[in-house]
Amino acid sequence: MSKKRKLKKNVTVAITAAVVIIAAVILIAILKNKPQTSVASSSSSVQSSSEAQQSSSSTPVSSTPASSGTGSSSSSAVNIVHDFGILMLVNKNNALPSNYTPNLITIPKSYYYTTDKDNHFDSRAATYLENMIDAGRKAGLSDLCILSGYRTYAYQQNNFDQHVKSYEASGETNAQAKIDAAKLVAPPGTSEHETGLAADVISSAWYKRNGTLTADFDNTDAGKWLRANCVNYGFILRYPEDKVDVTKYDYESWHFRFVGVDDAKKITDSGLCLEEYVAKN
Ligand SMILES: [Zn+2]
Repeated sequence: MSKKRKLKKNVTVAITAAVVIIAAVILIAILKNKPQTSVASSSSSVQSSSEAQQSSSSTPVSSTPASSGTGSSSSSAVNIVHDFGILMLVNKNNALPSNYTPNLITIPKSYYYTTDKDNHFDSRAATYLENMIDAGRKAGLSDLCILSGYRTYAYQQNNFDQHVKSYEASGETNAQAKIDAAKLVAPPGTSEHETGLAADVISSAWYKRNGTLTADFDNTDAGKWLRANCVNYGFILRYPEDKVDVTKYDYESWHFRFVGVDDAKKITDSGLCLEEYVAKN
């Protein structure tokens, strides 16, 4: 009798233990799955293909502290931008996801140097850009125009890939070709033109004469006028001469970025570049 009872008790203990173990295993499995699925649904799918490319090409500048506040996981030098506010920071360390498309509107082709350019711009900034060019033209700079505004991720990818191919054709390894291509063309996702908030603005006569973009555009009437007046239209000179070590871009006297009138004034008055301004605010 007592043996039977003991056996019964043992069986009960064993069953209880088994139930507890199974419950624990299920609980662990649930806990393990939860964060994985929530991350995957938001952004990690977007990071995979583009980030692999960018991490190799951006190694030379990986020492720059990226101060965007966009979930930096330190495993890669390139963060994926998630906040698409008007001050979004897109640079060699902060890339737009490949599926990012701003809310675009069309700018008339008459504002462009050539008619074959993508003539879309972020709807938050398009009117400001048109107004800035109108004002410049009224002030006597009749040939003020946009050389390049919005560029799609696909355009930037294609442009970058072509440069990689040409370096590979000259005998470089794929890794080296990507590093060298990145010196000339921003890897896809990292060009500010992909935000739809940046434009290269020039004098067409100067550009025709010059044949290419050079920093001495700042000596022209158009360059001087833009530098002095862009702030009134919410634009900043994005890559100033004295901030090359921060922006990691050579001085670009033609590249203007919309940030809104208030912030453009604050940035210009403070003498900070966008990287520094975003880090402070
Ligand atoms: Zn530009």
